[in-house]
Amino acid sequence: MFWSSAKIAKKRFLKRVPEKYELNDLVYKWTCPCNSTYIGQTKRRAGIRWCEHINSNQTNKSDPSTIFAHMSSCATLDQQYQNYISDPSTKNFTSSHRTKSAKSEYALKYFHSKNPPKIRRKLSKNDFALKYFDVLRTNLTNEYDRKKVESFLILLHKPSLNKQIDFKHFKTF
Ligand SMILES: [Zn+2]
Repeated sequence: MFWSSAKIAKKRFLKRVPEKYELNDLVYKWTCPCNSTYIGQTKRRAGIRWCEHINSNQTNKSDPSTIFAHMSSCATLDQQYQNYISDPSTKNFTSSHRTKSAKSEYALKYFHSKNPPKIRRKLSKNDFALKYFDVLRTNLTNEYDRKKVESFLILLHKPSLNKQIDFKHFKTF
């Protein structure tokens, strides 16, 4: 009895903690270096949703993501990116044969890994913007709860890039 529970405890201890871009069922926040913010939710893997945000001119031309629209016009973000690519310690991003989403996946691994690759590579401005995503709440498997937490956090943080949302169900609070 004792041994089997010790084994389970050891197994649990050794279980790899997922990187944040590997999480599902979450509410996330994007904070631009200019302090503009956006809060969103997804039931899917965070990395997939974040790559969609930064490449949204490719995935959905008729409804570009608010983040993508902001990225194209923000001088502060542009400056941060210019500083990054002009840093002499950065190396050229050599994987030109890769697809756009594979490059974005690489950027995510680079920015969100506890042990990032030692060689820094120059990334596109879109991929550079991935570093500004963060997880606010996780384990929100129930869609209603997830959307309610998202709405609550939007109400709390007042992110400047979110469109006006319907706060009707908060009137009873
Ligand atoms: Zn900005």
